[in-house]
Amino acid sequence: MTVPSVVIIGAGVVGAALADELSARGWTDVTVVDQGDVPATGGSSSHAPGLVFQINGSKTMTEMARYTVEKFVELDSFHQVGGLEVATTPKRLAELHRRHGWATAWGIETHLLTPEESAARHSLLDADKVLGGLYIPTDGLAKAVKAVDAQLTRARERGVRVLARHEVLDIRTEGGKVAAVVTDQGEIAADIVVCCAGIWGPRVARMVGMNLPLTPLAHQLAWTGQVPGLAGQTVECSRPILRHQDADLYFRERFDTLGIGYYGHRPMPISADDILSVDEAEVMPSVLTFTPDDFAEAWSDTQELLPSTRSAKVEEGINGLFSFTTDHLPLMGESPEVKGFWVAEAVWVTHSAGVGRAMAEWLVDGHCTTFDLHECDVNRFEPHQVAPDYVRARGCQNYVEVYDIIHPLQPMREPRPLRTSPFHPRQQELCAAFLEASGWERPQWYAANAPLLSGREIPTPGDWAARYWSPIVGAEAQATREGVAMYDMTALKRLEVSGPGAVAFLQRLTTGDVDKSIGSVTYCLLLDHDGGIRSDVTVARLGAQEFQVGANGNLDLDWMERHRPADVFVRDITPGTCCIGVWGPKARDLVQPLTATDLKALRYFRGVRTHIGNVPVTMLRLSYVGELGWEIYTTSDMGLKLWDTLWEAGRDHGVIAAGRGAFTSLRLEKGYRSFGTDMTFEHDPYEAGLGFAVKLDKGDFIGREALLARKESVTRRLTCLLTDEVVMGKEPVYDGERPVGYVTSAAYGYTIGKGIAYAWLPASLADPGQAVQIGYFDRRVDAVVAEEPLFDPAMTRLRG
Ligand SMILES: Cc1cc2nc3c(=O)[nH]c(=O)nc-3n(C[C@H](O)[C@H](O)[C@H](O)COP(=O)(O)OP(=O)(O)OC[C@H]3O[C@@H](n4cnc5c(N)ncnc54)[C@H](O)[C@@H]3O)c2cc1C
Repeated sequence: MTVPSVVIIGAGVVGAALADELSARGWTDVTVVDQGDVPATGGSSSHAPGLVFQINGSKTMTEMARYTVEKFVELDSFHQVGGLEVATTPKRLAELHRRHGWATAWGIETHLLTPEESAARHSLLDADKVLGGLYIPTDGLAKAVKAVDAQLTRARERGVRVLARHEVLDIRTEGGKVAAVVTDQGEIAADIVVCCAGIWGPRVARMVGMNLPLTPLAHQLAWTGQVPGLAGQTVECSRPILRHQDADLYFRERFDTLGIGYYGHRPMPISADDILSVDEAEVMPSVLTFTPDDFAEAWSDTQELLPSTRSAKVEEGINGLFSFTTDHLPLMGESPEVKGFWVAEAVWVTHSAGVGRAMAEWLVDGHCTTFDLHECDVNRFEPHQVAPDYVRARGCQNYVEVYDIIHPLQPMREPRPLRTSPFHPRQQELCAAFLEASGWERPQWYAANAPLLSGREIPTPGDWAARYWSPIVGAEAQATREGVAMYDMTALKRLEVSGPGAVAFLQRLTTGDVDKSIGSVTYCLLLDHDGGIRSDVTVARLGAQEFQVGANGNLDLDWMERHRPADVFVRDITPGTCCIGVWGPKARDLVQPLTATDLKALRYFRGVRTHIGNVPVTMLRLSYVGELGWEIYTTSDMGLKLWDTLWEAGRDHGVIAAGRGAFTSLRLEKGYRSFGTDMTFEHDPYEAGLGFAVKLDKGDFIGREALLARKESVTRRLTCLLTDEVVMGKEPVYDGERPVGYVTSAAYGYTIGKGIAYAWLPASLADPGQAVQIGYFDRRVDAVVAEEPLFDPAMTRLRG
C-alpha cells in the first residue's frame, strides 16, 4: 500500500499528537511544520497551565480526555494529582451531583465530598466557604510542552520530519485537491494537509477558501508569589487541581505559588489576522499583555476561598489566546470543497491526544471507531452558523458561559430570532413558548392552550425537569391522542435527491430498499463503513428520479455530497419549504374535505403530491407521534396559507397547535429513536433496536459488510425504562451499586401516565421486568425495563 504524504501545520499539542498517532499507524511520510521553535512554538500549548478536568456533558469529549490522560501518563507528561470542583451555592452543589452522574455514565470514577473532606483534599480551601466538592482521582496537570516533545520525538523516530521556523504562507491546490504547502522556505508536496494551527486556524483555512468558525479569545491566567500555605513545597504540585466554577475560577500549584485562571472577565475576542508574528510578539504570539483591572474580582474571590492567599500577591499574568467555537466543541474533518484539506481545531490540551487519535483513525481507516465524532465534525453547521457575526457572538457568549450551569433545553439567547417558519406569526398569536433548533424558532408549547388544562391532572415534574416546561405540554400531548393537533415540523432537515443515478445512489447509501413505486416512503439508515449509524432518514420517492429525504442535519447533506456521483444532485430544500404534521384520530376528518385525494386510500408510509385548498403540497403519511396523519409540506411562500387553511377547517374538529414538548413525550411512548441522542455513530442498528430498517438482502450498501459481523455480537441494547420520576437524559443507570449504562432520551408519557427513559444497557439487563436504578442528582430513581412500544403496539392508530 502506498501511504499518502501528509503535512501537518502546527506543532502544538494537537499537531504533535496527530504526528504520533499517524506514524504509529504506519503513515510516516509526514511533515510537521511550525512557524515557531519546537517544542515551545509560541502557540497556546506553550503557556497552557495544563489543567485536565475530564468530566464533560459530552460522552465523546470525556472519552477523549480520558485517552489524553492515559497517554500523557505513559509519556511521563502528567501529574496525576486529581481534580476537585467545589460548590459555594446550592445550585452548584446540585450541578456537581449532575456532573458526578455524567462521570459515572461515561465511566470516570468520581467522589462527592463534604466540605471537610474537600478541605482535607486541598488544604488551602476554607471549608466554611464550600458546601461540598466533587473529586476526580484521575484528573491532573498536563505538561503540554513536554507532551509535545515526547510525541514529536516518537514520531521522528518513525521517520516523521519536524520543521521549525517554517511559516506556511499558502496552500497550493490542483483540481480541487491539495497539492503542496508553500512555506517561507519553499514548497512541500502533500496529498493531505491537516490544519492544527490553533488560533491561527481561520487564517490557514482561508488559504483554501474555507471559512473556519472559530474565535480566538484572550483568557486571563495569573501567578501569585509565595503562598504561605504552600511554603517549603519542593514538588511542583501535590494537591488536586481546583475549580471554583461559581466564581469562574480555577487553580493549580506551581511549587509554593499558585496559578489562577479566570473566565469571569469581559470577552476579549481578536481576529486571527491580528495575532502578531513570532518575531513581532513581545513574549509569544499567543500571549497578550495582562489587564489587571479585569482580574480584580478574581483575586478577591480567590482570597475569599483560599485564605492563605490573602497575604500573597499576584506577581505576573497573561491574557493568553485560545480558540472558542459556537457550541464549545472542536472542529474536525475534511473541507467540503477542497479534497485533502483537513482540520483539527479548537482543541484543549485536555482532549488533544484523543483528537489526535480520532483524526489518525479517520485519515487512515476512513472513519473513526474509537470515538463518536458526530458532534465534532466541522461540517455540522448550518450556513448561518458560520457567518462571522454569529461565530464571534457565540464564541464570546460561550466564553462567558464556560462554567455556567446550562439546562439541557436552555436555548441560546442571542442572536435570535434567526430562522422563522412561515407559521411564526400565527404561533406568536397563540403565545408560543419558543426554544431554538438549528437557528429555527420552535414552539415548545402554546400558552393559548391553557384552557385545555381544565379537567386534566398533569403531574408536575421535579424542579430541574420543570424548567422550560409547562403543564400545557401534557395537555397538548393528550389532546393529540384524543383529537387532532398541528405540529410545526419545518426545522426537520429536508434534502432533494434527484437525477438519473438517484436510485442507485440511495440504494448504496442507505440500509433500505428505496427502489419501490413512486409514492413509497422508506424508513432506513445511513451507516458508516464500520456499520455505525450516521443518521436515520425517511426516503420518499416522489418521481422516477426524484426523492425527498427527511434527514437529521448538515452532516447528512455533507455525507451525500461526498458520495454522490456526477449524475445525482443533492439539494437542501429545508429553507425554501415548510412542514406541518397534522396528527390525531380526527386528522382525516380535518384534512379530507380540503383535498380531492382520497386520503383513506393513501396508506401508511405512502406519499402523494396534491393540493390542500389552494396550496400545492406533498403529503407523507408518517407520524413520529404514533397517530393517524400526515407530514404536509409546501413551499415557504404558501406556508402561511397552508396553516390558515388547516386551522380554519380544524375549528370544527377542535384542532390545536402543539409544541415540541408534547412531540417528545408522544415519540417516546411510541419508541421512536432520535439520532444524536438515542443512537450515534458508535451504535449499530441491531443494538439500537433498528434492525427492521436494514435490508441485508437488497444488495451491497455502505456498512453492510461490517454489519454482518456486528449483527452476531450484540452486547448492549437501547432499552425502554419506566420510571416514577421524570429524568432528563445522560444520567447513569445502576444495577445495584454497579453503573451499567446511561439514559439517552427521557420524558413523561402523558398517555401511559409514567416517566419514560431510554437507556443503553448491557443486553443481559435489557429484558422486560428487569429492575434497575437511575442516578438523578443526589437520588436514585427506580426504573424497570418495559416491553416497547409503550403505546399502541398493534399500530392500529397509525394504520387506521
Ligand atoms: C491562558 C490559557 C490557559 C489555558 N488553560 C488550559 C488548561 O488548563 N487546560 C486545557 O486543556 N487547555 C487550556 N488552554 C487551552 C489550550 O492551551 C489550547 O486549546 C491548546 O493548547 C491548543 O493547542 P493547538 O495545538 O491546537 O494550538 P497551538 O498550541 O497554538 O499550536 C498551533 C501551532 O500552529 C502554528 N502555526 C499557526 N499558523 C502557522 C503557519 N501559518 N505556519 C506554520 N505554523 C503555524 C503555531 O506556531 C502553533 O505552534 C489554555 C489556553 C490559554 C491561552
